[in-house]
Amino acid sequence: MRSAVFIEKNFQTGKMRNVTVELAWKAHTLMKPFNGEVVGIFAGDELPEDHTELFRYGVDRILFYKNPALKDLQSVAMKHILTSMVRHISPDIVLFGATHTGRDIAPLVASMLRTGLTADCTQLYIDDHKDKGKILFQVRPAFGGNILATIITPDNRPMMATVREGVMLLPEEKVGNPVKIEEFKTEFNREWIKNEFLEIIPKVSKVNFHAANIIVAGGAGVGSKEDFKLLEQLAAVLGAEVGASRAAVDFGFAEKDRQIGQTGSVVRPKLYIACGISGSIQHRAGMEESKKIIAINKDPNAPIFAVAHMGIVGDLKEIIPVMIKYLREEG
Ligand SMILES: Cc1cc2nc3c(=O)[nH]c(=O)nc-3n(C[C@H](O)[C@H](O)[C@H](O)COP(=O)(O)OP(=O)(O)OC[C@H]3O[C@@H](n4cnc5c(N)ncnc54)[C@H](O)[C@@H]3O)c2cc1C
Repeated sequence: MRSAVFIEKNFQTGKMRNVTVELAWKAHTLMKPFNGEVVGIFAGDELPEDHTELFRYGVDRILFYKNPALKDLQSVAMKHILTSMVRHISPDIVLFGATHTGRDIAPLVASMLRTGLTADCTQLYIDDHKDKGKILFQVRPAFGGNILATIITPDNRPMMATVREGVMLLPEEKVGNPVKIEEFKTEFNREWIKNEFLEIIPKVSKVNFHAANIIVAGGAGVGSKEDFKLLEQLAAVLGAEVGASRAAVDFGFAEKDRQIGQTGSVVRPKLYIACGISGSIQHRAGMEESKKIIAINKDPNAPIFAVAHMGIVGDLKEIIPVMIKYLREEG
């Protein structure tokens, strides 16, 4: 068995997107029982600066197509080159990050290869199919997140999926695969270069969930943008990042890039404090893998308590000031 993982470079930093190492490790764990191979596939002007990290996350070799014309994202060219690469290595599975780039290129490659693509998977595993032997089972929320659908591609190869950043776990201990990089040669047609980048204006986000050990998240129950400041104060004393439910974002209490859940970010901090969040399935999809969850909600039957390790039933406007006072005084 063989898996291919699309190596995604952040054009602004020159480094890999975090989702690449997450997918590399996932592919490694999928391939390990079959002694299968994980191939990182990349097309660009230069490999990401930190590409050798991939060998520590279970990649066996990198296939690299080098061309200065691919200094910026060129979807049409990438479609042709990555399709040739996939045809060359014939993997059973191909994984892309569900990033803007992955969502752009993966469907193009899948349609060139005439195979299926399951977007935004939350779980991937290999199991027996009644007629087709071992295949990839691709799980993702469907129907507004109310069910988890398991999708298969039994008749076509490769089986392709995209996964959002933060969904797949990283290992405690990495591996030490030897560095093996092969250059891939293919014909290149200048007609494939369709975009000209005049200027890149980076989107500056103040939110960095990835680096946060603690997240204090607020929902509709916080009540107003003014009261959301209470959460910001709690986050400040804890050295935490502030998150929000979609309802809190829709009400204008918090910015869109603070949204956590199925259509927001997926987070896994050491501590997640959910304040005035009911715990809808769509919200839980983004936070229930947090190591410890504390929920503050005035409704003792709120679904958030089903995933919380500790629950405080009460009014957050009374509880949070006490927490802030205690933390400030006691440290
Ligand atoms: C396709 C789709 C995608 C979605 N994606 C997301 C997503 O990514 N993220 C997301 O969060 N949601 C998402 N949603 C919306 C989701 O279904 C819920 O509507 C949303 O999560 C509810 O947010 P909430 O818990 O803040 O609000 P509510 O459900 O209104 O809950 C508010 C809670 O606050 C409590 N409360 C009220 N006042 C206080 C107080 N003073 N003190 C303590 N507790 C109090 C209440 O008891 C209640 O439990 C999605 C929905 C759909 C259909």
